[in-house]
Amino acid sequence: MIICKSANEIRLMREAGRIVAKVFLKIEEIIKPGITTGYIDKIAEEVITGEKAVPAFKGYVGKVGKKPFPNSVCISIDEQVVHGIPGRRVIKDGELVSIDIGVKINGFYGDATRTYKVGNVSKIAERLWNATKEALDKSIELCVVGNRLSDISNVIENRAIIDGFSVVKDFVGHGIGREMHEDPQILNYGPPGQGPVLKQGMVLAIEPMFNQGSSDVEILSDLWTVVTRDRKLSCHFEDTVAVLENGPSILTRI
Ligand code: MG
Repeated sequence: MIICKSANEIRLMREAGRIVAKVFLKIEEIIKPGITTGYIDKIAEEVITGEKAVPAFKGYVGKVGKKPFPNSVCISIDEQVVHGIPGRRVIKDGELVSIDIGVKINGFYGDATRTYKVGNVSKIAERLWNATKEALDKSIELCVVGNRLSDISNVIENRAIIDGFSVVKDFVGHGIGREMHEDPQILNYGPPGQGPVLKQGMVLAIEPMFNQGSSDVEILSDLWTVVTRDRKLSCHFEDTVAVLENGPSILTRI
């Protein structure tokens, strides 16, 4: 069941989204070669708790092995697709560093991901980054009352195809509200014109994940980190978007 949010509920979700966006602003200031993923996690947690909010991923029990996620944010580098665990790894020049942030405040969640190009990245990394970001922006434009859910899926897949990239099929976007993962599931592929009709008050976390090579992924022995099976690059962007009467409203950007 897809839960439509009232204007007041969306106001509360905007607050969660604002905090997510604030964390990214802070990360933009500090991310560079030589810092560890654990340091980014620590800074992110400080910003979130400084706003009296809760880092939503910390302690989140995953489907695989029921192991709680140990950190506040997910950091996934290069061939890592999603759910990378921050720690001692040092970020290097040329890496694609994706950071996924979930925040809970006043009973509502916000969820977004940015991928950072650290230093000088390869041409193919640049193309993958551009394609994934563009897919998110194009899909957000379709968050309009009366469109169908799979219009979003279709525009994402089509953007990947233009550059010969593939989309990850094992992970999906989702509705969001009082739960981090609500209905509907938002596939990153498929034909347009299917699924539920978008209604005023729906809030969607749209998250294209593009792979340089094959769409196949696997989970590492830490039971969290998802990597491409061919170990080629992956890129991920995500925003929490409200479907409003006068068009889409991105809650996780300032
Ligand atoms: Mg998400």
